[in-house]
Amino acid sequence: SVTVLRLGHRPGRDDRMTTHVGLTARALGADEVIFPANATDALETTRDVTERFGGPFEARPTDSPVGDVRGWDGPVVHLTMYGEPVQERVGTIQAESVGQDLLVVVGSEKVPFDVYEAADWNVGVTNQPHSEVAALAVFLDRYFDGRELDRTFENAERRVVPTALGKEVTEPTDSEPE
Ligand code: SAM
Repeated sequence: SVTVLRLGHRPGRDDRMTTHVGLTARALGADEVIFPANATDALETTRDVTERFGGPFEARPTDSPVGDVRGWDGPVVHLTMYGEPVQERVGTIQAESVGQDLLVVVGSEKVPFDVYEAADWNVGVTNQPHSEVAALAVFLDRYFDGRELDRTFENAERRVVPTALGKEVTEPTDSEPE
């Protein structure tokens, strides 16, 4: 499985970014997101979207994000602009996380050095400063080799029908073919 952990959250300022970490994790194939306990809006929005657009996907809070990284039972990748190129490390990460619970860590403000040390890999999506949401999206797409784009979500109250123009949304039933 793949869990995304958001390290740090400044209420108000980070609300949208933290929410987008959760929504991007869900949309791009992760199984779970963990938010700092003060990210209550992001937790609620991510759960609400999962309720409406389907899962399975879990969102849960933690009182100790850094403690969770240190104590994680499985491989840990930390996304950072200072890390090694994703394109050079992703093959190893795929091979070494088979059958295990992979933790993908993204930061908000300055990330404690403990996290760099606790991670099995510090990985950069380029070595340019940008965004945790962008880094997460590219990492997950590389990790899943694009297969996440074809994922279908279960128990959805709403499903978007792809259209060239306009907005089409259905309310699927369980008996409806995928
Ligand atoms: N200045 C902070 C530091 O030095 O730790 C990082 C701030 S950055 C806006 C927030 C997060 O985005 C980082 O913790 C990292 O997870 C992610 N990020 C930004 N640029 C990245 C890159 N080029 N590769 C991977 N992750 C990146």
